Amino acid sequence: MNFELNDEQRDIVNAAREFAEGEFPSYMEESDENETFPRALWKKGCELGFVGVFIKEEYGGAGLGYFEDSLISEEFWRVDPGCGLAVLAATFGSQLIQLFGSEEQKKKYLPPLIEGKAIMGSAITEPDAGSDVAGVATTAVLDGDFYAINGNKMFITNGSIADYVNVLCVTHPEAESRHRRHSVIVVETDREGFEANKLKGKLGIRASDTAEIALNNVRVPKENLVGIPGNGFKEFMEFFNVTRVHVCAQAVGAAQGALEKAIFHVKSRKQFGSLLAKFQVNQFKIAEMATRIEAGRTMYWRAAWLLDNGIPDHRLVAMAKWFCGEIAVYVANEVLQIHGGYGYLREYGVEKFYRDAKILEIYEGAKEIEKLVVARAILGKMN
Ligand SMILES: Cc1cc2nc3c(=O)[nH]c(=O)nc-3n(C[C@H](O)[C@H](O)[C@H](O)COP(=O)(O)OP(=O)(O)OC[C@H]3O[C@@H](n4cnc5c(N)ncnc54)[C@H](O)[C@@H]3O)c2cc1C
Repeated sequence: MNFELNDEQRDIVNAAREFAEGEFPSYMEESDENETFPRALWKKGCELGFVGVFIKEEYGGAGLGYFEDSLISEEFWRVDPGCGLAVLAATFGSQLIQLFGSEEQKKKYLPPLIEGKAIMGSAITEPDAGSDVAGVATTAVLDGDFYAINGNKMFITNGSIADYVNVLCVTHPEAESRHRRHSVIVVETDREGFEANKLKGKLGIRASDTAEIALNNVRVPKENLVGIPGNGFKEFMEFFNVTRVHVCAQAVGAAQGALEKAIFHVKSRKQFGSLLAKFQVNQFKIAEMATRIEAGRTMYWRAAWLLDNGIPDHRLVAMAKWFCGEIAVYVANEVLQIHGGYGYLREYGVEKFYRDAKILEIYEGAKEIEKLVVARAILGKMN
């Protein structure tokens, strides 16, 4: 593996940085304060080609890799995690359609995401099934040419603004294995019986929409089932192998953005007649943070490279996901500490990284679950 970015990748990084630094500041405070989705920013992101670069050219995308998508995410989260997530998560679920969808599904659902005409989501989590994905209880019962879907979903990113959502449903309750009972069905959100309520009061990433969803006898054509009936659990696990790499990029980007604030602060603030940067304790903090960020980046870049080369390594992805999330939380905490009381004030933009970073240890597999995946890959199934 070559660790040097090529010219195209460097151009992508520069363009993403320029866009985030130039555009995000006009949206990030109001989106954080009022928990509003920055729709105009998302549209601009689509127009400039940042959204869904991993989608193949025949479906309107740039046909790049998940690595390039991650580079964009890193730059976006470096400036503002909330806006970064709002813009790029508009395609959340397209990865699964691209992996397992039929030709018709790909043609129908992927191009509008690139054109800025549609937003997507993926609804797995339920009030009683979070980490235990196989415990999902929403049912989809075939009735003629339609599935009738009933159930409740929780914490769904884009839930109240999406145009369509991949819903994990039980279609094969009789299957012996609880991992063979589910299927993924695309549900258009304007169908009768689909109801979403935005969840307010999140700690961080407040520009991103999160909702609970009720599905009351929502009737969906049977052609909306993605992939193989009964294979939904496995399909979502493969989807997470892709999207968890993206979460690593979010984490490294947030950590990098926070670190840069600390570097600026220690080189400008004096106490006891000396710059904070002259105290060895702060030098060590900067060195440790930079080292962890570099380690996280190297790890997830390898995971992304393997993914883009058709040899996904779910163990490495799980390792990188918990490790990078923990780095972001660690760095945001240290950076706030280095800022002292000023870090506690909104004005310095440091408390926001502190609030935003925490989600990285929770969504798309809490860090404990990632460690279980790693341990299982090393030890085999012990219980
Ligand atoms: C802002 C936000 C956005 C989200 N977006 C989406 C989305 O778009 N789509 C979607 O489907 N979901 C989404 N989620 C849900 C998210 O993936 C879940 O919150 C997460 O998987 C954890 O599930 P839970 O909250 O039910 O916690 P629980 O599963 O109840 O876990 C609670 C704690 O117990 C630990 N735990 C659980 N089981 C074990 C075990 N066997 N061994 C050791 N520890 C364990 C967990 O690690 C965690 O620390 C989102 C959540 C948030 C907060």
